[in-house]
Amino acid sequence: MCRIELEDLERPKELTRAGRSAPHLIRQEKGIMPCDFSYDHYREIIETAKRRGYRVMQMREYARPREDSRILLLRHDIDIHPKCAERLARFERDLGVRSTYFVRVHTNLYNPFSYDVYPLLRKILEMEHEIGLHFENVDFSHTTGEDASLILRREIDALQAILGVKITGMAAHRDLISAVSNDGTNPSEYGLAYEARAVTNDCMFVSDSLRQWTRTEGRCVCRVLQDTHLDVPRICLLTHPEFWYERPSGVQHL
Ligand SMILES: [Zn+2]
Ligand SMILES: [Zn+2]
Repeated sequence: MCRIELEDLERPKELTRAGRSAPHLIRQEKGIMPCDFSYDHYREIIETAKRRGYRVMQMREYARPREDSRILLLRHDIDIHPKCAERLARFERDLGVRSTYFVRVHTNLYNPFSYDVYPLLRKILEMEHEIGLHFENVDFSHTTGEDASLILRREIDALQAILGVKITGMAAHRDLISAVSNDGTNPSEYGLAYEARAVTNDCMFVSDSLRQWTRTEGRCVCRVLQDTHLDVPRICLLTHPEFWYERPSGVQHL
């Protein structure tokens, strides 16, 4: 059995009164839930969203015409561990929500067509979650010298062939911290309905990147959802399944 130690990752930051961020646990405020990366807190986040009138949805649903005024989008990037993703997918199904999981095809960390991983991805689909492509064509073209758009087309074809389904959307790997993202690529040219960053440019983007809520100055998404002054109508929540744990120890057994 292998496991990843998550306790030693840096904790979320919180704004001080002076406006500077300091690394420490988010303080528990009176009557407000404590924040961590447990499944219990994930449930609280979803329940808070529903209580505040947000409709929780997956990316492909958001890419279609819609009428809801308050929306919480659930996006997951499978960077490292498909097993953690399948576990979170089951938890979400039990909560009555559906989300979107973006899968890589080039990584050395997992093979989507392997004996171990393929069944996990099929289960995610069977639970009516969406699977999209977590593309990294520009990185790959830098390595191989091949044309980036041809690589992207092959990534899409490969994922669809592996899963035996038509995918709808794609999201860039590391699009937040490097210039790896596509540069204005039109998803319809590749037979897709959306590219994740472009389709959510009218949303507040909230991410658990390396277990720090850096996009919201250290504020967990639950604080954003509860902030009646802020009152954000549309939120895209990006989480990485390997950062979230079922057990109170913070150690995720794989
Ligand atoms: Zn929280
Ligand atoms: Zn990624």
